[in-house]
Amino acid sequence: MKKEIKLSGIPVVSGWGVGKAYFVGRAVQQTSTVSISRQDVGDEIMRFNEIREKAKKNYRQYITDLGGTTVDVSVLNIYEHILDDPAFIGQIVETISSKLYDLETSIRLVSNDFINRFNSAGTAYFKERSSDMVEVCEKLISYLYQDNGRAKTFMEPVILVVLRTFTPTDILSYDKSKIQGVVTVSGGKTSHAAILARSYSIPVVSGLQNISESINPGDQVLVDAEKGIVYVRPSTTVVSRFKRQTDSEKTLEELKSKWRRPVYTTDGIQIDVLANISLADDVDDAKEFGADGIGLIRTEYLLSNRKEMPSEKAQYEYYKQILDKADNKPCVIRLMDIGGDKIPQFFDMPLEFNPFMGWRAIRIFLERKEIFETQVTAILKAGINREYSIMMPMVTTLQEWLEAKAFITKVASRLGLKRPKCGVLFEVPLAILEMSTFLKEIDFASIGTNDLIQYLSAADRNNAKVNYLYNPIEPAFLRIIRTAIKCANDNGMSLSVCGEMAGNPIHTVLLVGLGLRRFSVIPRNIPLIKEIIANISFAEAAESISHIDAIESTEDMDEWLKNLNKRLLGNVLEKLPLTVGV
Ligand code: PEP
Ligand code: MG
Repeated sequence: MKKEIKLSGIPVVSGWGVGKAYFVGRAVQQTSTVSISRQDVGDEIMRFNEIREKAKKNYRQYITDLGGTTVDVSVLNIYEHILDDPAFIGQIVETISSKLYDLETSIRLVSNDFINRFNSAGTAYFKERSSDMVEVCEKLISYLYQDNGRAKTFMEPVILVVLRTFTPTDILSYDKSKIQGVVTVSGGKTSHAAILARSYSIPVVSGLQNISESINPGDQVLVDAEKGIVYVRPSTTVVSRFKRQTDSEKTLEELKSKWRRPVYTTDGIQIDVLANISLADDVDDAKEFGADGIGLIRTEYLLSNRKEMPSEKAQYEYYKQILDKADNKPCVIRLMDIGGDKIPQFFDMPLEFNPFMGWRAIRIFLERKEIFETQVTAILKAGINREYSIMMPMVTTLQEWLEAKAFITKVASRLGLKRPKCGVLFEVPLAILEMSTFLKEIDFASIGTNDLIQYLSAADRNNAKVNYLYNPIEPAFLRIIRTAIKCANDNGMSLSVCGEMAGNPIHTVLLVGLGLRRFSVIPRNIPLIKEIIANISFAEAAESISHIDAIESTEDMDEWLKNLNKRLLGNVLEKLPLTVGV
């Protein structure tokens, strides 16, 4: 067996996990296998024929589109020949039916086999055929991921090795319970993929270069996302050292049962701790971890792994399921935040150089009113007799907001319903700096620190390289948050913070001190945040915060925050199972 090696990266979602390496992002490289039962053979073969036809149609379309241009389309004909090649088809069918591998594994194994044969033939012609094979294999596999919500299952725990930027689909395409960790080339702490991983307690280490030179598919990999270290083929000593850490999970169980009730500071101020969720099943987690409601439903995840925009009926069922499960606790349904790094496969998105600054969320809605109308109609119908409100992401100007609100009012009156409470997610600098002008037009406010930090610091939330600039305790950023919270409090406006910053227990005292009374965080961290709140006085926290104006650098702020936590919390933080922080 090859020796253990250690790779260093950037911790993105903390925690640790161990499993077999499963490669994502370069189809033919993956050789670890997924088995199926005999009764699935027919389905897999049928699926193969479907995606083969789709791929052929797609290549033919390219040929038509390029007709009349000077582009040489002969290679596209070669792809079609490969897809019709009886030897290729026969081997895949044979691999599925006699070796009982799933379609993806079978495509990979057969393609690899062809590639090896072409490569060993040695001539330039055959070498070229091997890259054609890579293209066809990637193409076919890409169709498998658009397979209407079917998540791939594994027989054993895996570590996903993502050979490109980590995206939400990388998690949603697989059985989440088997993913023990993710190692990836790129992806920042508040990328949407990282947020999703955090809410499922999946540790992530990013910023690893040349991963495929150090890890082979199927290798045992241990991810230590506290330190950002990845052990490839770890020794038994290393594995058992990590296994001992599971003690902290016991503490979490205790806190979970303790905090299925509201929390008050020691001086009697009630603080709401709600959950951020994406899928209907996440409401079960929210309840299990003691959420006082759902403060952010990221509805765009409804679109993941779908072939087309979900109908009003499909959307209605999703919202109804969430609202039914929520037992009449408040639920904030955020309208779809399409764009940025959340582009559904079927969505006709123009190519943009700067997607996070481009056509996103409300900007899409105001132009594509039919999408807006379908979503609002489905929510309003599902919300009859329920405790819910609607939140709009990425609002920049008051004008945009007024237009959106008027549209929601119009849909409600068409349905003969009252307009629900509507609020703004403040995540664009212009909007938060102008919060006071929004106040008379909104029913509630929430601060989306994930985007707000990236827009204020001009540091992409997905880019591990500029992560050093992306910092929630940057003094200038905290001063903006303080002004916004004060503005809402002075006007009696309900305000929450729902970005990842609010879910990190290190920031709880700070945010309470800034006057925050409503947190919305990943379910797992709810009991931890409540435990901290129960140990502090609202007035004392507020008093301590008055010093932040004098702090000029992030380093000084970091030092000050550590001392503050120590002074107000003693050793409460050290005793908490802080495994999934930002
Ligand atoms: C945010 O930007 O802080 C937020 C809550 O929205 P998202 O992370 O989904 O962009
Ligand atoms: Mg956002």
